Amino acid sequence: MISRIDMRGSLPANLRDVLPRAELDVEAALEKVRPICDDVRHRGVAAVRELTARFDGVEIATTRVPAEAIERSLAELDPRVRAALEESIRRTRLVHRDQRRADVTTQVVPGGTVTERWVPVDRVGLYVPGGRAVYPSSVVMNVVPAQEAGVPSLAVTSPAQKEFGGLPHPTILAACALLGVDEVYNVGGAQAVAMFAYGTEECAPATMVTGPGNIWVAAAKRLLKGRIGIDSEAGPTEIAILADDTADPVHVAADLISQAEHDTIAAAVLVTTSPELAEAVEKELPGQVSATRHSARITEALAGRQSGVVLVDSLDDGLKVVDAYAAEHLEIHTADAAAVAARVRNAGAIFVGTYAPVSLGDYLAGSNHVLPTGGCACHSGGLSVQSFLRGIHVVDYSRDALARAAAHVTVLADAEDLPAHGAAIRARFDWRVPQTETD
Ligand code: NAD
Repeated sequence: MISRIDMRGSLPANLRDVLPRAELDVEAALEKVRPICDDVRHRGVAAVRELTARFDGVEIATTRVPAEAIERSLAELDPRVRAALEESIRRTRLVHRDQRRADVTTQVVPGGTVTERWVPVDRVGLYVPGGRAVYPSSVVMNVVPAQEAGVPSLAVTSPAQKEFGGLPHPTILAACALLGVDEVYNVGGAQAVAMFAYGTEECAPATMVTGPGNIWVAAAKRLLKGRIGIDSEAGPTEIAILADDTADPVHVAADLISQAEHDTIAAAVLVTTSPELAEAVEKELPGQVSATRHSARITEALAGRQSGVVLVDSLDDGLKVVDAYAAEHLEIHTADAAAVAARVRNAGAIFVGTYAPVSLGDYLAGSNHVLPTGGCACHSGGLSVQSFLRGIHVVDYSRDALARAAAHVTVLADAEDLPAHGAAIRARFDWRVPQTETD
């Protein structure tokens, strides 16, 4: 059901290349999404409607979800789901509220300050996936940090669902209502990203688009990056588990399965020092998989080249493997898990010990679940309040403070052969370089 990679003896030098990983060719998808994005750019909402008919199999009359549909979805929401979503929002807000940064003013010299001012982007388009699975939890994970950052205008989009008359899934609409979001669109895939990037007759352009999605969404974000700001490309989900012989194979198997449930190309990787645990997990998997609803999808994900059980000699080697893999989600099931977790350098989010499974993080830990995939965790973090803020340096120098910097500025300007830079300083001091001592 899941392949084994034996790295005992010595770790391969090209660790990153030999570790299991989904073959996701976003570059190749760029060529396919380019005409989609161009079409939306030139023909606006007519193109969006046609693309929705083609890719989502549903005719839509309008791309903006009417307010009554959002209100109705909340009124008809199962009260247990409502209570769970409200608790998820509460916890997520607690964590993200603490991420807000204060403006910082540094006095560089007497009379010379630099202030870093944190300013939210003007308008964001938040993508909530809705192809294979439906993710009201992603509404929470996108909207809460944007709201806590103080973004003045935010809109949510999620694919039109045939079975709901071309609206997004009602639970997604209800989650929007709970969060106070009233601007919602029933558009998915690359056309949704293009709609936000260029704007249409029904949707004002956004300055930034965030949220996870499939390869078409990721390719459109990559293509339109620059015109719009994006978060990291959060693609098919991944779980890596670092475990020793203290781990419970039932818990480990359940967690591998839980993430494989997302997608046939989701990745589930166990890295362990214990051949006994590897064997016990491999034995446990088929029973748990066959007992669950999406067993076909899970079996394909676990058997895929992106999943595997990696055997290593030591925890040190295991840490090297998980750092090279840079998983979206990393669970630590070892003795003294907190100490081992503290040594990890690359992961989207780390889950410490057997009572912090990724499922908790997906919904209710308070952490964000929009996380970098495909190894991007070695250079990027997950969605946060910071994702929606720009740090603007505000430079404020008095005449004396500038005078004290003038000599150095003109020397550096000359060294770069940019004499007009120096002249811009001298113009303020009767075309001389003031001979004031520097601080
Ligand atoms: P999706 O909403 O991303 O994509 C569905 C859309 O794709 C459809 O609306 C359709 O317009 C478009 N599409 C389908 N086939 C197409 C084609 N052939 N050409 C062009 N466009 C096409 O939903 P999904 O497919 O279920 O994917 C969601 C992904 O997001 C999964 O891989 C899941 O693992 C991932 N995810 C990641 C995170 C994270 O934080 N990393 C969180 C949740 C979900």
